[in-house]
Amino acid sequence: MSRIEAFDPELYEVIQKETRRQLEKIELIASENFTSQAVLEAAGSVLTDKYAEGYPGKRYYGGCEYVDMAEDLARDRVKKLYNADHANVQPHSGSSANMAVYMTLLKPGDTILGMDLAHGGHLTHGASVNFSGQLYNIISYGVSKESEQLDYDEIRKLAETHKPKLIIAGASAYPRIIDFKRFREIADSVGAFFVTDMAHIAGLVAAGLHPTPLPHAHFTTTTTHKTLRGPRGGLILIGKDGENSLGVVAPKSGRTKNWSELVDSAVMPGIQGGPLMHVIAAKAVAFKEALEPEFKTYQQQILDNAKALASHFAENGIRVVSGGTENHLMLLDLTDLGISGKEGEKMLDAANITVNKNGIPFDTRSPLVTSGIRVGTPAVTSRGMKEDDVRQVGDFIMEVLKSKGDEKVISKVAGEVKTFTSKFPRRS
Ligand code: PLP
Repeated sequence: MSRIEAFDPELYEVIQKETRRQLEKIELIASENFTSQAVLEAAGSVLTDKYAEGYPGKRYYGGCEYVDMAEDLARDRVKKLYNADHANVQPHSGSSANMAVYMTLLKPGDTILGMDLAHGGHLTHGASVNFSGQLYNIISYGVSKESEQLDYDEIRKLAETHKPKLIIAGASAYPRIIDFKRFREIADSVGAFFVTDMAHIAGLVAAGLHPTPLPHAHFTTTTTHKTLRGPRGGLILIGKDGENSLGVVAPKSGRTKNWSELVDSAVMPGIQGGPLMHVIAAKAVAFKEALEPEFKTYQQQILDNAKALASHFAENGIRVVSGGTENHLMLLDLTDLGISGKEGEKMLDAANITVNKNGIPFDTRSPLVTSGIRVGTPAVTSRGMKEDDVRQVGDFIMEVLKSKGDEKVISKVAGEVKTFTSKFPRRS
């Protein structure tokens, strides 16, 4: 009997239920993944006990000799993975990583040019309900109505008109390649900092299957738990373009510092206290996994699965936003089926298929209802699904959506999904 089961049966039952949910349902949330057993073990290790404010070799606590090693392993591996000059592995989340970079480069009231949440951007890129929208002056760019893809000429015009201090590229629901070089040219033309948030595509970038932002961005942020398949957390990187060594006079001390020193102090003591050393250890394991040759095969399969699934939907009359996908996710427009994203999410959930409702560009419905759903392939690929399997998943989805929630159809598909998922292992 496990210790949790013995001491806290109530919580034990919750964990059992979540384990069953992960096993029996088809997981298609584009921002989620299943970590390896090794990552899970590190995240559940004794390193959770240790306070380690500061950085390796410069801590505010004694007894940090081993957690220093863990953090050094994480930093060295991730620098190798992305060919980076500097890495900060302490941000608790992607949002904290973005906050720390903004604090390094901006003062409240400065202007940020970021992608509109309604067009696929993230909350921290300037949504009015987020700290970013409340502390800074936000100008948003979006996709073009015709192509539903980023319109770089429009972004340039917005930059010239509003002269932002910082431009951020990156998205939560954008199925196309992002041209980071072009973004940097726009940023340079107006004297703005250029930051990339590669949270969704970090695994693809690590495997060389999406162009890397590192040589173009002043700072690159990411989460570690999406395509990258690590534990829940954030990360900040500086590329090897020489800018890190530029001296900047720190306002308070008057001392000349480089960007890595400034961003490290923005993370701690700027916005965080003690780092989560168990999570940093799990990040180290995930980065080691991402350096293995099999990781590239895995990322390629994520892409192949997404392409196969998007084509299958399109061939069967479902409108795929922007006409397809070049990464791990796709947006489906459910308007022609006569159902909203909210309804689609609910009926699929009842059929043991997990997706999230998602606004489509120029959506006329509210963000709580939406006209679309977002579908991603990282988690099903971690369970070993290949193109034929995801086409089968597509058939389940279409049967449910086209039935408009017919209870008989939903319960038939729910049973078929359980049989189907039992063929795939949970963790490797
Ligand atoms: N940036 C992007 C592009 C994201 O999609 C997300 C999460 O979905 C984040 C940042 C924030 O990550 P977290 O939820 O860890 O704060």
